[in-house]
Amino acid sequence: KKKIAIMTSGGDSPGMNGVVRACVRMAIHMGCDAYCIYEGYEGLVRGGDLIRKMEWHDVRGWLSEGGTLIGTARCMAFFERAGRLAAARNLISQGIDALIICGGDGSLTGADRFRAEWPSLIEELQASGEFTAETLEHYKHLNIVGLVGSIDNDLSGTDATIGCYSALARICHAVDLIEATASSHSRAFVIEVMGRHCGWLALMAGVATGADFIFIPEKPREDNWREEMCGIVDHHRKLGKRKTIVIIAEGALDRQGNKITPDMIRDLLADKNGLGLDTRITTLGHVQRGGTAVAYDRMLATLQGVEAVKAVLDATPETPTCVIAITENKIVRKPLMQAVQDTKKVARAIERQDFDEAMSLRDAEFSE
Ligand code: ATP
Repeated sequence: KKKIAIMTSGGDSPGMNGVVRACVRMAIHMGCDAYCIYEGYEGLVRGGDLIRKMEWHDVRGWLSEGGTLIGTARCMAFFERAGRLAAARNLISQGIDALIICGGDGSLTGADRFRAEWPSLIEELQASGEFTAETLEHYKHLNIVGLVGSIDNDLSGTDATIGCYSALARICHAVDLIEATASSHSRAFVIEVMGRHCGWLALMAGVATGADFIFIPEKPREDNWREEMCGIVDHHRKLGKRKTIVIIAEGALDRQGNKITPDMIRDLLADKNGLGLDTRITTLGHVQRGGTAVAYDRMLATLQGVEAVKAVLDATPETPTCVIAITENKIVRKPLMQAVQDTKKVARAIERQDFDEAMSLRDAEFSE
């Protein structure tokens, strides 16, 4: 009987509980034993009661719970071989032979590294005499499948990451609330949203709320962005608009690679020699990732969780580690490291201020 473990890792995102529920139940449905690893890689390294067998009813009601009920953590020990050796020992001790990991690109990189290193970890455990050769024979290969849980929608190769539409819905709701005050007092608001190197949340929130101006990392504004922004806001005001909304991604840069901050924008909009608008800053922060998942993320979590169990059962030593993606509304399996490497390419292009490259990589992601 195959024993499949599921864990969540990296930053939490709405929908992770839906993933765990789907994986646990699909594993049981397929005649396997299901396990949860609590606290991300920390639980894998420490083992003990952080690795628990799950029954069908253990995940009842999890679809509508926010965050991740099995916990998540950043784990330094897993960056070291000793930590990964401890993780291998814990898996084998519990009889677990397949692993499903839901997290961001860091977590998925760690997963791929663990799988690649697995044969040598087994050799080391055999040499130390902790397990018999017969026992280790069963664990010659470790099947790992990744699922992308992130509010940023920053992973290449998938149209949506689990959690991004919940965060987008939360941002839109927050902007709607802020707009009431903005209109009443004829104010301007600069709203900072999450996303790290990825401007998807800011861009889509801008589209969905009809923001006056947005800033994203991949496509910095031209050098005259100050005049451009003030010109557009002024134009909108002259058309009778009483509210001004500027959305800025946390990673927004100018063409020279300098950070654009909400303070800079506020000072510009409030400048008495210019527009002179009463301007406030709202940094949405962690409300963006909190709360329950929207219907789309619950659906994605469930369909992808089911596919992850199928994929982990189909995997052979020859197949590369896969990640479950959604492309043009179809749930598909893709090579995990390809997706991670493509993701890193965008971040690197932004770092070296090659914004044309960053944008064409992003375009390629969504027109695949
Ligand atoms: P988020 O997008 O929310 O930040 P993430 O999965 O990218 O999620 P990270 O903090 O980068 O988050 O990674 C989570 C954990 O994955 C790390 O704390 C570490 O335990 C493991 N990990 C990340 N990168 C590696 C790596 N190169 N080798 C081994 N383990 C890694």
